[in-house]
Amino acid sequence: MTQHTEQRSEVLVVGAGPVGLVMASELTRHGTHCRIVDKAPSPASTSRALAIFPRTLEVFENIGVVEAVLRAGHKLYGFNIYAESRLLAHLGIDELESPYPFVIILPQSETERILLTHLAQMRVSVERPVELLSHVRWYGKYHRVFVPKYRRRVIYGQLRRRIGPLLWERCQQQGMEWVAGHAMPNHVPLCLSIPPQ
Ligand SMILES: Cc1cc2nc3c(=O)[nH]c(=O)nc-3n(C[C@H](O)[C@H](O)[C@H](O)COP(=O)(O)OP(=O)(O)OC[C@H]3O[C@@H](n4cnc5c(N)ncnc54)[C@H](O)[C@@H]3O)c2cc1C
Repeated sequence: MTQHTEQRSEVLVVGAGPVGLVMASELTRHGTHCRIVDKAPSPASTSRALAIFPRTLEVFENIGVVEAVLRAGHKLYGFNIYAESRLLAHLGIDELESPYPFVIILPQSETERILLTHLAQMRVSVERPVELLSHVRWYGKYHRVFVPKYRRRVIYGQLRRRIGPLLWERCQQQGMEWVAGHAMPNHVPLCLSIPPQ
């Protein structure tokens, strides 16, 4: 960690993917000093997300990177969907009421490079490889529904009596807490809780 960030960082941004880079750019633009870390030793070199939609371009304008993105990418004004040479549908992006009525096709690695350059101009750099090991705690509650094949109404009698204990035992094995559940004839709605990790 540099002296600069150590003294002045108010926000820690974890992860230098598109979300973290945009977050760091916006925090910096609004006068909040942030430190951005990523566990990967270098930025991703793969394409992954290719399409940047009009609303994102509008946000990029606010950030100050839209010109660089427009220069680097290719404009796409619409999509045609074909099946065996027959046009099934046309989706026209150029009809949208936006200063950017098109989609920009740009590999994600290039978008990240532009955001990194922009951050560097504001004297913010990503510290690598730095992994956040604490503070990653979450407590999740999940709704799950078990459904018999074809949603047949088969949960009666002995099966109805056995299914609860069976599912409860399975939850215990998986370290999940059974919050609620009820056997219905054609489904079993469950609310399960997974302890903080
Ligand atoms: C193979 C592949 C193909 C894809 N194709 C498309 C596509 O065609 N179109 C599309 O829209 N989307 C696609 N995506 C999804 C797109 O890449 C993601 O939506 C996007 O990367 C999410 O951005 P993000 O910033 O939230 O997360 P990420 O890009 O995943 O960035 C998260 C970063 O956080 C870092 N990190 C994680 N945990 C820690 C920690 N504890 N400490 C420090 N650093 C940490 C990671 O190293 C990583 O760099 C694809 C994804 C993959 C993997």
